[in-house]
Amino acid sequence: MIFTRFLRSTSAACPVLLRPQIRTLSRPRRMSAVPPPSAEAPIEQPAKPAKTPKAPKAPKDKIPAAAPVPFSTIAHPLTSLSYVDTHCHLDMVITRLPQTHCGAGEFADNEQIAKALQDLRHQSFPSNFEACINVMCDPEYFGGERDAQYIAAEVPPMHNRWESLVEHNPWLYLACGIHPHNAIRYNDTVEEHLLKALAHPRTKAMGEMGLDYFYGLSPKETQKAVFRRQLELAVQLDKPLVIHTREADEDTFEIMDSVLPKAHKIHVHCFTGSAEFAQRLLGRFDNLYIGFTGVITFNSADPIREAVKVVPLEKILLETDAPYMMPLCKDPRFVIRKGPASKIAHCGHIPLIAERIAQVKEVEIDLVMEHARRNTLFVYGL
Ligand SMILES: [Zn+2]
Repeated sequence: MIFTRFLRSTSAACPVLLRPQIRTLSRPRRMSAVPPPSAEAPIEQPAKPAKTPKAPKAPKDKIPAAAPVPFSTIAHPLTSLSYVDTHCHLDMVITRLPQTHCGAGEFADNEQIAKALQDLRHQSFPSNFEACINVMCDPEYFGGERDAQYIAAEVPPMHNRWESLVEHNPWLYLACGIHPHNAIRYNDTVEEHLLKALAHPRTKAMGEMGLDYFYGLSPKETQKAVFRRQLELAVQLDKPLVIHTREADEDTFEIMDSVLPKAHKIHVHCFTGSAEFAQRLLGRFDNLYIGFTGVITFNSADPIREAVKVVPLEKILLETDAPYMMPLCKDPRFVIRKGPASKIAHCGHIPLIAERIAQVKEVEIDLVMEHARRNTLFVYGL
């Protein structure tokens, strides 16, 4: 059984983990210098254009798949308030981009990845994007063996990728942990490397971790043991938690309830549960926050919008879970496609999620942005 040694051997924290963390606190701010609209740049038109005679429509096939001008020079049309994407997987975003965007596709080394990320930010994130929490949850990032699917797809090795990502991108912070899909690949070597990553000052949280009975890619009992193990480590290290739960709410709650103190900082990410489950979590933990993604914009997401109604703004986090969960978006300027059906979410989409929350709660979008920014500062210190 792969767990026997790590279960026995980890009652004390690794000395390297006791290093004090450097806190780089920043506060929500309003963007002060939004460049004026330019006649040549279609992106710089206001969100609700004045009623002027319509220009003839360009044929559909002439609309570029990606933004033709850098978004990074202008604020998002929906809001100019600065924001943090509290949950994304940008290293996975760039491996999915079409060759025409950023010149990305396959990557030979970490420098190429860093360059592709910088290009992505420049072309697709608005100027009020401030930072993101990039979630690393594959054992391969932490010295684990290669997954067969990566070998088959000839994806370049990912060992130490997290170090390269933070080194090259000062706006990128990390959460590190082992996803329930990968629970079966958790072992002592992975844990040792994971602890090293958690000690880095730019690693702000532990996760994502939890239970996923929908896909069931690891056996339930293995998922539970690895989840419990990581929760215990997070308590020892006093690290905020990123929780993934899918079709496993009862077991997730039970394990969290039995391990975590009431005041532990928790981000339940990509919430797709019921309003009742949201209330139960909020009632049990004082510092628990609920992350909403682009899912809340889907036509089928009425039950999740019911949860949005009962979660106070003081408890909401905004996240994309990019490259997944692309919000509904009719404006082609914000959409990166890979093929006719697949759309790739990225950090530039946060205002679309805030807008939908604002509609559900019948408040202004900037109120949602302000609360989410303040909540992010509390949970992640960013
Ligand atoms: Zn995720």
